Amino acid sequence: MYPPKFGYVIPDSIDEVNEFLSEHEDAKALAGGHSLIPMLKLRILRPSYLVELKGLNELHYLVNEQKRIRIGALTTHYEILKSNLPLLSEAASTVADPQVRNMGTIGGVISHLDPSADYPASLIAMDATVKIKGVKGEREEPFKDFAKDMFSPDLNPGDLVKEIIVPDFSGYTYSYKKLERRAGDFAIVGVAVLMRKESGVIKDVRIGLTAVNNKAVRAYEAEKMLLDRSLDDKLLEEASTKAMEYANPTSDIRGSSEYKKKMTKVMTKRALLDAYKR
Ligand SMILES: Cc1cc2nc3c(=O)[nH]c(=O)nc-3n(C[C@H](O)[C@H](O)[C@H](O)COP(=O)(O)OP(=O)(O)OC[C@H]3O[C@@H](n4cnc5c(N)ncnc54)[C@H](O)[C@@H]3O)c2cc1C
Repeated sequence: MYPPKFGYVIPDSIDEVNEFLSEHEDAKALAGGHSLIPMLKLRILRPSYLVELKGLNELHYLVNEQKRIRIGALTTHYEILKSNLPLLSEAASTVADPQVRNMGTIGGVISHLDPSADYPASLIAMDATVKIKGVKGEREEPFKDFAKDMFSPDLNPGDLVKEIIVPDFSGYTYSYKKLERRAGDFAIVGVAVLMRKESGVIKDVRIGLTAVNNKAVRAYEAEKMLLDRSLDDKLLEEASTKAMEYANPTSDIRGSSEYKKKMTKVMTKRALLDAYKR
């Protein structure tokens, strides 16, 4: 309940954050605080300083450009769910509860990289890109490479996630299906589907899975089975069985490995059917 003592820094610019974090490797950036503060309260972490990002407007925006959407790291779950973005807004609506959604940020989620977080299933399906700013300047990296492992983003000391870029999937149908024990909980299994159809024939499909591996994965072989086909019961069964093969879950308080694997198939079926019918 009581965090350990720490110093608190209120920077004026991103450059200042980069500099301070690179000089104090155990300092932590503070965004929405809804993963960091709980960890401090349990004393899992003991950073020397917290560096407050909240006042940095350069990290707080959502720009819908012609072919891509640029989302500043400080954009909250609530702002994303209100933005009507294909797939991502639906995923945002399932994150935690209203209070958490008012505070938590997309930059915080992907810097923290909880293996059960909701956005990664969508970000991997959308081929999202992450823009990172460090002391030596900016770089862009595909989200699939940025997410190296659970709780392991590709960030060097001093680096900040600046924005997340997703292609514009207007014209696609989509669905995010989250299995949870109760409203507000993390996912037991989460499946994100994006689909483009022409006269009932699937022309592009992307399936992202979360909570069933160390990091989110795409079920590429299942996607391939669906291409240039119309969805019927047999194909739905075959493709979701194939997607299940991409799940390698661990047993924990949310369920056994066997249960989660089977539920990956069930949730994939539901997400595919939902996206196909929309
Ligand atoms: C009760 C509860 C339920 C939740 N349920 C869910 C859920 O169902 N699904 C889900 O996905 N999440 C859930 N969460 C997590 C929530 O979404 C958090 O908001 C999110 O994981 C972290 O975002 P944040 O902005 O709060 O980051 P913070 O807690 O401020 O930071 C998290 C980590 O990221 C680092 N960081 C933050 N921003 C940046 C940046 N721009 N660049 C570099 N590093 C940065 C911090 O230093 C810290 O290490 C839940 C949280 C709570 C408290």
